[in-house]
Amino acid sequence: MSHTQSLNNYLDAKPTLAEPSYPSNCLEFARHLAESLSSNGHAKNGKTSLKIILVGGGLGGLATAIALKQSGHHVTVYEKAGELSEIGAGIQVPSNSTRILIKLGLEKYLKPFVTEPEAIVIRRWQNGKVIGNTRLIPDFVDSFKAPYYVVHRADFLSALHKKALDEKIEINLGHKVSGYDPMKGDIILEDGTTHSGDLIVAADGIHSIARKCILGEDMVFQESGLAAYRNTVDVKRMRDDPEVSWVLERPSMNVWVGDAGHAMTYTIGSGKTFNFVLAHPDTTDPSTWDQRDNIGDMKSRFAGWDPVVTKIIGMVDSTLKWPLLNGSPLSRWASGKLVILGDAAHPMLPYMSQGAAMAVEDAAALTRALSKMESPAQLEEALGIFEKVRIKRTGQMHQASLLNSQLWHLADGPWQEARDAAMEPEVKGFPFAHSPNQWSDPATQMWCYGYDCEKEIDKEWENSLNK
Ligand SMILES: Cc1cc2nc3c(=O)[nH]c(=O)nc-3n(C[C@H](O)[C@H](O)[C@H](O)COP(=O)(O)OP(=O)(O)OC[C@H]3O[C@@H](n4cnc5c(N)ncnc54)[C@H](O)[C@@H]3O)c2cc1C
Repeated sequence: MSHTQSLNNYLDAKPTLAEPSYPSNCLEFARHLAESLSSNGHAKNGKTSLKIILVGGGLGGLATAIALKQSGHHVTVYEKAGELSEIGAGIQVPSNSTRILIKLGLEKYLKPFVTEPEAIVIRRWQNGKVIGNTRLIPDFVDSFKAPYYVVHRADFLSALHKKALDEKIEINLGHKVSGYDPMKGDIILEDGTTHSGDLIVAADGIHSIARKCILGEDMVFQESGLAAYRNTVDVKRMRDDPEVSWVLERPSMNVWVGDAGHAMTYTIGSGKTFNFVLAHPDTTDPSTWDQRDNIGDMKSRFAGWDPVVTKIIGMVDSTLKWPLLNGSPLSRWASGKLVILGDAAHPMLPYMSQGAAMAVEDAAALTRALSKMESPAQLEEALGIFEKVRIKRTGQMHQASLLNSQLWHLADGPWQEARDAAMEPEVKGFPFAHSPNQWSDPATQMWCYGYDCEKEIDKEWENSLNK
C-alpha cells in the first residue's frame, strides 16, 4: 500500500461524532474536513439536470441562475424590464452572503466596486456619541471566513449580470410573465406565448404574482408605519467641509439611532459616493406621496439631530422616499413545479441588512437541495426540504429585523439608557457575552453570519431519509 493510499484510508475512517442538538460549533473542524474530502475528486454537480425557467433578473434571481447553472442545470431567465437596473443607492453584502458569492466565483466581478468597512459604529442621534461598535475587520473575516462589503446596487447587479453572461445563461429582457401553470411547469408571457420547464423559480420581487399563484391569495403585509429617504451624496462636497469630512476618512458604517428613526451611512463606488438612508415613521399612504416634498420633509423630521447628520442632509439635492414593507412569514413557497424565493418569499424590514443576503442564501440552498435528487421524480421532496429550511431561517431573520427596529428606535429614557449601558463593553473594547447590538451579540452574530445554508439542507435531507 502506497503512503498516499494509507493516508486516504486513515482520513476515510470517519469517526462517528454525534451532532449536538444545541447550538454549538465544536464540530466545525469535522465539517470542514468532510467537505474537503468529499469535494476531492467528486463532482459537486447534481445527478439530475433540469430545464429551469427563472423569472426575475434582480439580485436574487441572477444569483440563483448562476448557482443553478454551475450545478449542471439548464437555466433561462425572463425579466420584464428592458434593461437590468437597481435604484441608485447602496447595499450591504454581509459575510453570510459574500461567502456564497465568492464560492460562485463572483469575487473578481465585485472586488473593483466594493468597499470593505472596518466597523459598524452606532451613534447617539443628538450628538454622534459612539454607543455601539461592531468590528468587522479583522473579526468577521476571522470568524466567518468571508468579508463584509458595501457596494452600489447597480454595481452589484452588473457584477451578477456579467457573471451570468460568462456562464452562458440565456437572459431574456423585456419579457413579462403574466401567469403560471405550476402543475405543468409553464409560464405564460404577456405576449401570450407559453414556455415550459421541469422547474419554474420565481424571484419576481416583493409584488410577486407567482406568490399569489402558490398561495391562492396574496401575502398579508403588516403595517410597518415606516419609510426611508434613500440618498446619495457627492463625497467631494463632504470632503470640503471639515465638520463632516471625518465620516469619509476610514471606511466604516455609521448609524445614528434615535426616537423612531435612524440614519445609516457608508461610502460606496470605491469611496466616490456617500450612501445615506434615513428611516422614519410614516403612516400615510405611499400612493399620496409627492416626491418633490421630500427634501423639506426630511430636513424637518431630522431637525435637532447631530449637526453632522443635518449638515449632510443639507448636501442632498434629491431624495427618494421609499415605503418599508413588512411581509409575514409564509407556510409554503412551492406548489407543483413552481417555487418562489428572494423578496417574493420573504419581504422584511431592512434592519438586519439581510434581504438580498437571504436571497443569495436561497440560491445556494435551492441548488444544494436539487443536487440531492437522484431523478426528476424527487422534485417535490427537494422543494419540500428547501422550503422547510428556508422558511425557518428567513422567518428568524424577519424577527431579528423587527427587533432591531425596536432596539434602535427607543425614545430617550430608562430603556434607552439601559440599552446604551449594555453596549459599553464593546465600545471600550472589553470582552462581552451579550449585547443589544445584534451585529455584535456573539450568539446572534454566529447565527446570522456563520450560518451555512448548504449544511442545513444536508441535515434536513438526512433527517428525511431517516424518517
Ligand atoms: C431601504 C432598503 C435597504 C436595504 N438594504 C439591504 C442591505 O443592506 N442588504 C441586503 O442584503 N438587503 C437589503 N435590502 C433588501 C434588498 O434590497 C432586497 O431583499 C433584494 O433587492 C431583493 O431582491 P430580489 O431579487 O428578490 O427582488 P427584486 O430586486 O425586486 O427583483 C425582482 C425582479 O423581478 C422582475 N419581475 C417582477 N415581476 C416580473 C414578471 N411578472 N415577469 C418578469 N420579471 C418580473 C423585476 O423587474 C425585478 O428585476 C434593503 C431594502 C431596502 C428597501
